[in-house]
Amino acid sequence: MMINTVLGEVSPQDLGTTYIHEHLYVSPDELARYYDYTLDVPSKSIEEAKLFKAAGGRTIVDMTPLAYGRNPEALRFISQHAGINVLCITGFHKDLWLPRWFDNLSDEEISCELTREIEDGIGFSKVKPAAVKIGTSLGKVTEREKRAIRIATPVALRHHLPIITHCDKGTMGLEQLDLLEAQGMDLSHVCLSHTDLTLDSAYMKSLMSRGAFLSFDHVGRDLAARDANRVRILKDLITSGFGDQICLAGDMGKKNYFKSYGGAPGLDYILTDLKEYLLDEIGEEDYWKMLIDNPRNVLDWS
Ligand SMILES: [Zn+2]
Repeated sequence: MMINTVLGEVSPQDLGTTYIHEHLYVSPDELARYYDYTLDVPSKSIEEAKLFKAAGGRTIVDMTPLAYGRNPEALRFISQHAGINVLCITGFHKDLWLPRWFDNLSDEEISCELTREIEDGIGFSKVKPAAVKIGTSLGKVTEREKRAIRIATPVALRHHLPIITHCDKGTMGLEQLDLLEAQGMDLSHVCLSHTDLTLDSAYMKSLMSRGAFLSFDHVGRDLAARDANRVRILKDLITSGFGDQICLAGDMGKKNYFKSYGGAPGLDYILTDLKEYLLDEIGEEDYWKMLIDNPRNVLDWS
């Protein structure tokens, strides 16, 4: 199956080193409130993406959802100028960030909207999404979130697009899997984000035991300790046999994390400093699996 990027289709083999949960362009409506999370200067994102590329990176999935400042034209510009693949998505974040029209449209109308984005491309850009997002709140799944999952899952299934989720502070992974499974979703094309925030390896194992992938995406927050906790957990998960179900990413959608804005650790961190720390603990083969084979297996639903 070919994979949709913002510049058109590529073969799964061309994805290469992939971060499955990042943000290269985000421009939320409430700029004042989300200033730190606003990445609306393409030249800065290009500069950052070039660091990723120089370190061997090839593909970034921009997980900015529908109606939260997603901008396929900007992503296309960034992709062209940085020389990397950028994948964009359709679907929803957690309750707080559902679009204003969510309550005014019927299930059928929302389903049509998602289908239209997938089949015809997003708005005038005609960029086609490569995955569908759903999200849940901290420690609970609201009725609106259940509705979003109920509507989005059959659309993803029909088009063989993976579902990449937002688990608020890492919570509600099991509930998400139950809801997705109830809609007939193939959990081997589900990737749960942020669960490493819980630092709870038993919880993470229970999610992967169901067949789902995890996006291990909160590295780079503990630079002084060289990410020791997360490196330890990764080693434990891999030695327990889950090395084929973990995708390594950074979810670094914040000015503070981008070197181009003067932040740290930068989009190249996973491929440079963290790689060094990790290779002291795990094999090179397992390291590359988390960056190449596993994200590709999530995205390629052949
Ligand atoms: Zn994110």
